[in-house]
Amino acid sequence: MHVFFVGAGPGDPNLITVKGQNLLREADLIVYAGSLVNPALLELAKKDAAIYNSATMTLDEVIEVMSAAAFENKCVVRLHTGDPSIYGAIQEQMDELKKKDIDYTVIPGVSSFLATAAALRQEYTLPGVSQTVIITRLEGRTPVPEKEALARLAQHNATMCIFLSVHMIEEVMAELQKGGYGPDTPAAVVKKASWPDQEIIRGTISTIAASVGAAGIGKTAMIVVGNCLASSYELSRLYAADFSHMYRDAK
Ligand code: SAH
Repeated sequence: MHVFFVGAGPGDPNLITVKGQNLLREADLIVYAGSLVNPALLELAKKDAAIYNSATMTLDEVIEVMSAAAFENKCVVRLHTGDPSIYGAIQEQMDELKKKDIDYTVIPGVSSFLATAAALRQEYTLPGVSQTVIITRLEGRTPVPEKEALARLAQHNATMCIFLSVHMIEEVMAELQKGGYGPDTPAAVVKKASWPDQEIIRGTISTIAASVGAAGIGKTAMIVVGNCLASSYELSRLYAADFSHMYRDAK
């Protein structure tokens, strides 16, 4: 009796983990987050696997189909986009399964903020620029605690990856400026990172909203801001010749 929560990755079906792929092949029941999971992944499923799209289901319905199959000792896969721990609404599902004494395992996935870094060919943690990545969102129907308001987080001038907010990009940029990022801070938006129709828009905090509007990007996009995108930084200590560590002596 077991449910596997699997991170599907950001879109490209080759970016699921090997473990996740094997589970998809074995699954008797797959419940997938249809709004963002690439349907190509479902081609891995057995012919007789039952497949549900959770986009049109309630929490109760999802738990109902998963627990019914789990009680029959079937292999159950709950397929989430990216990594399930980030805006995945996974906790409430795990808690319901726990109440029913159904065991579960989480298989991580490549989150879209990482696929975005790959698309931008960018390191988020440049020495001397920022050593912190903030993952956040603008408040929508889901509230954001006051202490995490975008303007307050912006005070750190860290690298920020802003999910679920591209449709409010003007407000995002206004809040970031209010918080202390200069108007020339570089910004990028990546739509559908790792998908064939991936799009990249680059600009600054003061220009990017207009470019994103002109490109008609209103969903499935990551906003990245921070001086790491401007690439004037110090070389890492990790590979510095005069720096010794556990695996290498200084030269
Ligand atoms: N658990 C997912 C996030 C789900 S929330 C993860 O780890 O990626 C959905 C938001 O994720 C979208 O609004 C968008 O901001 C972002 N997103 C998901 N897939 C994306 C992709 N391929 N490219 C860019 N952003 C993506």
